[in-house]
Amino acid sequence: MALDPEHCVFCKIIEGIIPGAKVYEDDKVYAFLDIAPFNFGHTLVVPKTHCHAISELDDEYRAAMINAAAKIAPAVMRATGAAGYNLLLNNGQVAGQEVPHVHLHIIPRFVDDKVLLGASQKQYEGTAMADLQAKIQEKIALRD
Ligand code: AMP
Ligand code: ZN
Repeated sequence: MALDPEHCVFCKIIEGIIPGAKVYEDDKVYAFLDIAPFNFGHTLVVPKTHCHAISELDDEYRAAMINAAAKIAPAVMRATGAAGYNLLLNNGQVAGQEVPHVHLHIIPRFVDDKVLLGASQKQYEGTAMADLQAKIQEKIALRD
C-alpha cells in the first residue's frame, strides 16, 4: 500500500503538501493535532499508507499505529493536564468516519468536560446477548 496524496487529505498532510501540526513521526506512523478538537490536544494517529479500514490495514502498520498511540497518549495527558483519554476509531461513514484513511483519535479528557462521545447505550433483551456472542464467535472462527 502507498500514499494517495491526490485524493486524501491525510496523505497530503503526511507528504507535507498541506500543513499539519505534527507531534510524532516514525517510518510507519504520522500523528498530528486534530483541526477541530473535542478537547485541546486531540491528536490523530495515522498510518503512512493509504487504507480506508482497520481490518484491511497491513499488520505492521496497524501495530505501529496502536503502539504509537500508547506512547503519544500519556504525553498528551502530561502536556494538557488531562486526567484520562479516549482512543476512538470511526470505521465507515455510518460510524462517523469522514476521512477515508484509517486513524486513531486520542481525545484528552478532563473532569466535567461535557464531551459527549455517543450517549445512547442499549439493553439486550432475552437471549439476544448470548445469541450475538455465539454469532460473533462463529464469524471469527470462520475467518481463521
Ligand atoms: P473521522 O470523523 O473519524 O474521519 O475524523 C476525521 C477527523 O479529521 C476530524 O476530527 C477532523 O476534525 C479531522 N481533520 C480533517 N481535516 C483535517 C486537517 N486538515 N488537519 C487536522 N485534522 C483534520
Ligand atoms: Zn490517505
